[in-house]
Amino acid sequence: MKNLLGGKGANLAEMASIGLPVPPGFTLTTEVCTHFYQNDCNYPKELTQQVEEALALVQTRTGRVFGDSTNPLLVSIRSGARASMPGMMDTVLNLGLNDQTVEALAKKSGDRRFAFDSYRRFVQMYSDVVLGIEINHFEKHLERAKEKRGVKQDCELLPEDLEKLVKSYKAVVQLELGEEFPEDPNAQLWGAIGAVFNSWMNQRAKTYRQLHDIPEWWGTAVNVQAMVFGNMGNDCATGVAFTRDPSTGTNEFYGEFLVNAQREDVVAGIRTPQELTIKARKSHGSELPSLEEVMPSIFKELLSVRSQLEAHYKDMQDIEFTIQQGKLYMLQTRNGKRTAPAALQIAVDMAKEGLISKSQALMSLKPDLIDQLLHPTLDPKAKKEVIAKGLPASPGAAGGKVVFSADEAVRRSKDGDKVILVRIETSPDDIHGLHAAEGVLTTRGGMTSHAAVVARGMGRPCVAGAGGITVDYTAAKLTVGSVTVSEGQILTIDGSTGEVMVGEVPTVPPQLSGSFGIIMEWADEARDMKVRANAETPADARQAKEFGAEGIGLVRTEHMFFEGQRIVAMRQMILATDENDRRQALEKLLVMQREDITELFKIMDGMPVTVRLLDPPLHEFIPHTEAEMASVAKAAGVPLDRVRRRAAELQEANPMLGHRGCRLAITYPEICEMQARAIFEAAAEVGRTSKKLPVAEVMVPLVATTEELKLLKGVIEKTADAVKKEQGITFTYKVGTMIELPRAALQAGKLAEMAEFFSFGTNDLTQTTYGLSRDDAGSFLPEYKAKGIVEQDPFVSLDPDGVGELITMAVQRGRSTRPDMKMGICGEHGGDPASIEICERIGLDYVSCSPFRVPVARLAAAQSALKTQGEKAKQSSTKATKPRVQNFGPW
Ligand code: PEP
Ligand code: MG
Repeated sequence: MKNLLGGKGANLAEMASIGLPVPPGFTLTTEVCTHFYQNDCNYPKELTQQVEEALALVQTRTGRVFGDSTNPLLVSIRSGARASMPGMMDTVLNLGLNDQTVEALAKKSGDRRFAFDSYRRFVQMYSDVVLGIEINHFEKHLERAKEKRGVKQDCELLPEDLEKLVKSYKAVVQLELGEEFPEDPNAQLWGAIGAVFNSWMNQRAKTYRQLHDIPEWWGTAVNVQAMVFGNMGNDCATGVAFTRDPSTGTNEFYGEFLVNAQREDVVAGIRTPQELTIKARKSHGSELPSLEEVMPSIFKELLSVRSQLEAHYKDMQDIEFTIQQGKLYMLQTRNGKRTAPAALQIAVDMAKEGLISKSQALMSLKPDLIDQLLHPTLDPKAKKEVIAKGLPASPGAAGGKVVFSADEAVRRSKDGDKVILVRIETSPDDIHGLHAAEGVLTTRGGMTSHAAVVARGMGRPCVAGAGGITVDYTAAKLTVGSVTVSEGQILTIDGSTGEVMVGEVPTVPPQLSGSFGIIMEWADEARDMKVRANAETPADARQAKEFGAEGIGLVRTEHMFFEGQRIVAMRQMILATDENDRRQALEKLLVMQREDITELFKIMDGMPVTVRLLDPPLHEFIPHTEAEMASVAKAAGVPLDRVRRRAAELQEANPMLGHRGCRLAITYPEICEMQARAIFEAAAEVGRTSKKLPVAEVMVPLVATTEELKLLKGVIEKTADAVKKEQGITFTYKVGTMIELPRAALQAGKLAEMAEFFSFGTNDLTQTTYGLSRDDAGSFLPEYKAKGIVEQDPFVSLDPDGVGELITMAVQRGRSTRPDMKMGICGEHGGDPASIEICERIGLDYVSCSPFRVPVARLAAAQSALKTQGEKAKQSSTKATKPRVQNFGPW
């Protein structure tokens, strides 16, 4: 239903069908929107009549008539796309009001003030959204009216002030547009419908879609719904709630409401909202009474709605409700946005409560959420100078230079600065700034304010409603007591405690909660593929193991040669003019290489470690500026001229397709010999001293032909035999190859005669399959994406049709030669959930990714396994239930 009715429309229909109190209404489908944009902004011809019929039904159900001068029906018009796009598109409330119906509303409600307040809100909103008149034209009049009356708050204005305001507002419309404000409710209705469809293409909606990968062709639905009022007196209220705490996931009803208010007042954060429960009121130290206290029976009803919704949707819901003269109405429900820790907590709790199964719990989590959990928090031991406190709106700590506008946030972050966006409150227009900032601080608004909701969705730390801070946009500074922080100065915020600190406060790695461990355990039970890490340093290997890596899938040995003194020996080796010199330099490298690999074997403690032979073109190790060359010559003890000459010799037109990978080892077998020796001597030593035998896998990169592999395997085996003999010890090892060239994929059957495992290097395989440079494609791929030529950057998400096909073929050919052959992937795709699913479907044995992606990959692998098992089960069950005998013929 969501595709057709949009999220909001589908959920309203769903809520109504389970018997919840939803004000009647109707939805113009997303297909109307698609038609509208495909036909020069014209509607399908049958639409007018269908809207009339739908409206007639709403009139019958409410007992009110649209535009009637005694008993008028008023409606709200809201957008609603498939995916929630909070605040990005337009809304019009109180539609149907005009000079006659307002009198009827005044009479019916017995509250003239309320009627004219609704009317002036409507005129302003309609003029802004539909007629495109800037809102400050109206605000001037409102300010003037308050001044005249000598009051501060809108709600202190008298009915006659509001009546006059409506006249001034209409005069603004006449002045700005040269035409009257539409009095005819039908004209109002179609104007508002058009405005909502048009808002699908406004700039902020477009930006939001780009950031959230929402396709333009989805379109939005339009919901027309009978108005209910939360601002008709003190027996009215409006509120928003989450069925569980969206910040921590705790199974507690969580929300805010305002008595005698419209819900825009809650979302805008203009008045301080009240808590729903007594418990929350106490824990937040609020002096205002909770809903549980002011309207106990409505509160009870809302509690029952809460459990009905969770039982129905099997997920935490984010709801909006209005209480009109003591009666509860549900205006919206949707799956609630939540922080990463909350998502895990909720999934685990719901599975334990029996609301969902373990598999459903796993499937409910976006693997990238896990990534957010692994980010740093403030070091508890660090000194910090807390200058203010707000609400802990989105967890995590962040420090950066203060900026006061979204544009400035984008500008500075493009220059490489980390920024904290500070606003009085944020609006959907600030979305690009929220995205660019490390964290967000607002001085107004609650936990459900725009800043809080959007920051949580994006995983940005956020402190909201820090009322002690005064922001001065013009002077670009904020003040708290005697402290002033100007634009560009550093501030740290802690979105888990709400604290705001001057200067940069150090952070510590995250403490993973119990639910993280439980989810990972369930994921491990569910998945088929193993997860390894790409790691070279002991620190990375330890981190990977802590995150659950089951081995190292790729040791890029060249990374071991870049640091400190090592690069000197490496350069000596490269600059050597004969084998003898080269062997001398290799001797030095051998010592370092052996130490490193020994350490990795020890850390991985019996789990496989795939060590890849030197891969990059040699010139990457040679400096290019004159000054750098001089220092290399000095450190390596060779004449400067030789460095220059050698650097020139090593220049290649296409180094990525040049003298690299196994080709280096073919020309300089002594490099391969040294690396193999380092691996085997390390294996011998660890085998002697540790309880668990090391599992050494020697991997040859960038192989295109079986002959290359044959030659190098020969060198490796010979070295292994020599080490065994020298050390008087035996050890096992495997020699395998990377598949990162189309020729290797094609020749996989033959390569498998030689190779004992395959590891797909999908970075190079994507480069060579597409004929796209992995270094340069970034300059035009965004345009390819924007134009829909590629859905995803193929270096980020595995191309299923080209690269995926090659892998599938290589796996089949490889296994037909060597059925038990282990196969994995070690390109960047190994940590990308969509690519992991492709690997599962292809039947790889493992994925290998960077250490911090390991938990993400564990979950993604579990989801992939569950998904494919589910599909298989479905296929076999449909096969089984298909009837074997069918009748035919007429009676
Ligand atoms: C690859 O090509 O996918 C790979 C893992 O190797 P590298 O990125 O080091 O070329
Ligand atoms: Mg590669």
